[in-house]
Amino acid sequence: MKTKRLLSMGPPGAGKGTQAANIVEAYGVCHISTGDMFRSAIKNGTAMGKLAQSYMEKGELVPDSVTVGIVKERLALDDCKNQGFLLDGFPRNLDQAHALDTILAELNYNLDAVIDVSVENEILINRIIGRRICRNCGATYHIEFNKPKTEGVCDSCGGELYVRKDDTRETAENRLSVYSSQTQPLLDFYKGRGLLVSINGDQAVEKVFADIKNQLGE
Ligand code: ADP
Ligand code: ADP
Ligand code: ZN
Repeated sequence: MKTKRLLSMGPPGAGKGTQAANIVEAYGVCHISTGDMFRSAIKNGTAMGKLAQSYMEKGELVPDSVTVGIVKERLALDDCKNQGFLLDGFPRNLDQAHALDTILAELNYNLDAVIDVSVENEILINRIIGRRICRNCGATYHIEFNKPKTEGVCDSCGGELYVRKDDTRETAENRLSVYSSQTQPLLDFYKGRGLLVSINGDQAVEKVFADIKNQLGE
């Protein structure tokens, strides 16, 4: 199997994180989620975490000066070289997309596909406000659509499930509007390069993943 270099681009709540777990398992790529990196920096109380937190709580984008730097560092590590990668939640605006072009050119990498999982906004809001995450392993659940066996407890590690601070209706609405004004224009940018893979995200998790695999191939 050829090493894959992938981006995932859907709006908040589309299932990027959920599908990333499947993609990582099937293709053995490194999962690089800028949102997860910021949440871990917040948890560890770093200076970057403190800065990122103020933007995340409002549903705004963390400044590019910070975001581009962490992606650049991460992509340069050996595991991305050997295993390929799935960038989840980056780029999110045109400047980040241009910065990514520069980073990839420096590392001599080409992208294989940009996965766009789309779902309509009303469904996204319900997915976001019902989302629960394992404090220990990061696995994602939903109180209605993807229930854990025991309420509040992670199936895979027994960890406690929590609600992300930015998963309120108000913040979710702002994130969706940031997505449509800043991130959605990137779809045309990648479509023009023939990289865009469009997936209907309003289907069962397994069906969404089957569609992704069909499009990506071996
Ligand atoms: P979701 O999966 O719901 O889209 P993420 O975990 O990807 O959420 O992102 C959560 C928040 O982290 C965003 O609302 C934003 O504040 C910040 N963030 C994540 N990725 C980026 C990025 N590429 N640029 C700027 N901010 C980002
Ligand atoms: P993203 O990373 O794009 O913000 P997540 O993968 O965290 O999205 O999914 C958002 C919420 O929707 C989670 O609670 C998740 O369990 C749920 N979810 C993900 N995919 C589906 C699906 N295909 N059908 C129903 N619910 C889903
Ligand atoms: Zn867990």
